[in-house]
Amino acid sequence: MNMDSLGKRAASAIDTAREQVSALIGSSPEEVIFTSCGSESINSAILSATSLDPDKTHIVTTAVEHSATIKLCEHLARRGYEITWLPVNREGQLDLEKLERALRPDTALVSLLWANNETGVLFPIEDISRITNAKKVPLHVDAVQAVGKLPLNAADLGAQFLSLSGHKLHCPKGVGALYVNKRMRFTPWLRGSQENSRRGGTQNVASIVGLGRATEIAADHVGESGSTVRALRDQFENTVLANIPGAEINGDRVNRLPNTSSLAFEGIESEGALMLLDEEHICCSAGSACTSGSVHPSHVLKAMGFSNDRARGSLRFSFGRFNTPAQIETACEVVPRVIEKLRRLSPSGSPVVMAA
Ligand code: PLP
Repeated sequence: MNMDSLGKRAASAIDTAREQVSALIGSSPEEVIFTSCGSESINSAILSATSLDPDKTHIVTTAVEHSATIKLCEHLARRGYEITWLPVNREGQLDLEKLERALRPDTALVSLLWANNETGVLFPIEDISRITNAKKVPLHVDAVQAVGKLPLNAADLGAQFLSLSGHKLHCPKGVGALYVNKRMRFTPWLRGSQENSRRGGTQNVASIVGLGRATEIAADHVGESGSTVRALRDQFENTVLANIPGAEINGDRVNRLPNTSSLAFEGIESEGALMLLDEEHICCSAGSACTSGSVHPSHVLKAMGFSNDRARGSLRFSFGRFNTPAQIETACEVVPRVIEKLRRLSPSGSPVVMAA
């Protein structure tokens, strides 16, 4: 086989992957740019919108975003941009009137999550895009947690940009994609000739092919696995709430991803719970995985108005279609036992921190 035909095979494999991704998100293939991760997609969308019109120096986002959005907006704020951080209520929901009032003639972009990575709470993107489109302000949706879990049609959603990441779709880490609506102008920050000159850098063919296949599998399962996973999550939550006094769900119970459960346990320290649960082969996280290892209470739970103690006593459990009913039964037995043990170690009710 000559080199030319090898190159053509690689190009054709990337074309197939682009079609697979676009089929899952309801876009046309030309609207998909491959990136290295969700964070790169987010950075690309925000930096494109801010670079295209230097007179637009205002960005609207929310207080509960992923660190990729927060850190970039903080960086832009240091460079003279004005950032409006929209608050959320105790359910983790936005006040859409506040969002509408925040939009100004110099607003470059609204960037917000579809599904929160800590609580699973869903923002009503179609209602939000009606507002942003009426004011002609571009909308970027961080859909990293939502893609593959919720049915999605990018055109109906009404956003100009949408970010996704492979590792939320059971694909190896290190690949993502950015949807850019064909009517939206786009300028890259990573310049080069690849991806139709919209993202420089030789394409990571193996990972892109993996992402394409992962989106194809996700498309086959999106509705059906949502209800199976929801049933497993609900069984776990109902058992835990019934068996652990003072346990509560963080965030909107209804408008929520089917796979996420953020639970607050009065009188415990999540770091200690993580260690004991890990010994029993139950993997979960304190706040979001991206902030685990940090002792700071979750910014998401704080923004929802919860105390430091409640934020530090919260755990996030995520479920997937590879979880079995037997695993859920084990979790239903282990989690109440571990929480009770931690509370016994701290009869005063003050949180116990386990020595590392
Ligand atoms: N946005 C959300 C909501 C996420 O949960 C994550 C990662 O978990 C990201 C963005 C960042 O994606 P990546 O890790 O691919 O950069």
